[in-house]
Amino acid sequence: MNALAATSRNFKKAAKLLGLDSKLERSLLIPFREIKVECTIPRDDGSLASFVGFRVQHDNARGPMKGGIRYHPEVDPDEVNALAQLMTWKTAVANIPYGGAKGGIGCAPGELSISELERLTRVFTQKIHDLIGIHTDVPAPDMGTNPQTMAWILDEYSKFHGYSPAVVTGKPVDLGGSLGRDAATGRGVLFATQALLAEHGKSISDQRFVIQGFGNVGSWAAILISEAGGKVVAISDASGAVKNSNGLDIEKLHKYSIENRGVKGFSGGDLADPNSLLTEDCDVLIPAALGGVINRENANDIRAKFIIEAANHPTDPEADEILSKKGVIILPDIFANSGGVTVSYFEWVQNIQGFMWDEEKVNSELRTYILKGFKDVKDMCKTHHCDLRMGAFTLGVNRVARATVLRGWEA
Ligand code: GLU
Repeated sequence: MNALAATSRNFKKAAKLLGLDSKLERSLLIPFREIKVECTIPRDDGSLASFVGFRVQHDNARGPMKGGIRYHPEVDPDEVNALAQLMTWKTAVANIPYGGAKGGIGCAPGELSISELERLTRVFTQKIHDLIGIHTDVPAPDMGTNPQTMAWILDEYSKFHGYSPAVVTGKPVDLGGSLGRDAATGRGVLFATQALLAEHGKSISDQRFVIQGFGNVGSWAAILISEAGGKVVAISDASGAVKNSNGLDIEKLHKYSIENRGVKGFSGGDLADPNSLLTEDCDVLIPAALGGVINRENANDIRAKFIIEAANHPTDPEADEILSKKGVIILPDIFANSGGVTVSYFEWVQNIQGFMWDEEKVNSELRTYILKGFKDVKDMCKTHHCDLRMGAFTLGVNRVARATVLRGWEA
C-alpha cells in the first residue's frame, strides 16, 4: 500500500474512534500547502542537472509547521505528503507546540559531490525561503541530510531575511545547534523501548535486538541499546547485513561502517541476507530505515515479540492486522521516533531564548517528554480500547482537532 494511503487509513480509523465530524475530518487530512519546485544546478563537470524538490506543509493549528527534509531517489509527492501528515500527529503526541511538514528532493545524495549538494540545497532554499520561517515552518534533517545541510539552508535563508538560527533545527552546535540533537531520535527510541519493556516486566539487558538501518537513527539506537546492556544480534544497512548471535560489538561496527561506508564485510559477525533481516530470530525488532518494509509479504514470518518503529511508517496497515493476530506489540512511529523532533523543539527554544542548555538537561528533558508521551498514549488505549498505534493516533489527532476547533475552523 502506498505511504499516503496507509497513513490516511490510520488517520481515518482514529477519526472514527474519536467520533470526529466528517467535515472536520476532511479538513484535518488535506494539507495546508504543497510546494513543488525545480532545482537546476551546474554539476562539477559543467553540465546542468535538474532535480524536483517538495515541501508539504500539512497543518499549523498547534504552532509552526515542523519536519525534516529528505534527499533520496524515492522521494515523491505522495511520500512527502504522508510524512508531513505523520509530523502533524507526531508533534501533537509529543505535545510540543508545532504542526507538521516535510520536504524532500528526489536525488541520490551519495552520487553528488559536497559542492553539488551545497548548490542543490542553496537553490532549493532560494525557491522556498519566503514560505519557511521561525514562526511558520521550521525544517530539520531527515534521511540523506545532516547538520551541514541545515547550515547551508540557514546561510542561504539569512541572505534574504537576516541571520535567523531558529529557522532550522539539527544545525551544527557551532551555529546554535543543540547538544544531544544528533543522538536524540536514537535516545528517544531507547527511552520509549525501556518504558514499553518495563510494562511487560522486561528490560533492555534481557532482550535480543535486530536493527534495520545504520544511519543516524539506527546507529544511535544500536549504540545506546548496547550501552544499556541489550544484545544487538543483527544489523543491516544499504551495503548489506551482519549478524552475531552472541551480540555484535556496536562500537567497533560503527567505526568500521564509517571507514568502509557500510556494515558489509565487518569481521565481528557473519554475513547475513539483508532481505531476511526482519524475520531473524530476536525479541525486539527495530526498523530504522525506509517506510513500508513490514508488509503482508513478510509479516507472518516475523519472530520478534516487540517492534519499535524508529523509521517513519515502516509497517503497512495490512501487516498491522497480521501482527496483531500473532500478538506482536508495536510501538508506533509517531511516538517511538518522536525524540528527534522533541530535541529540535528544545533547540528552537534555546535559539529563541539565546541560551544554551547542557547535554544533561537536554537528555533529561527528553526522557520526561517520552515518559509523559507513553503515559498519554496508554491512557488513550484504555479510553478507546485500542492498540498502541491507535492510542497514539487518537491522542495526536484529538489534540490537533481541539486546537483547530478552538481557533474557529469554519470561519
Ligand atoms: N526528520 C525527523 C522526523 O521525521 C525530525 C524532524 C524535526 O526535527 O523537525 O521526525
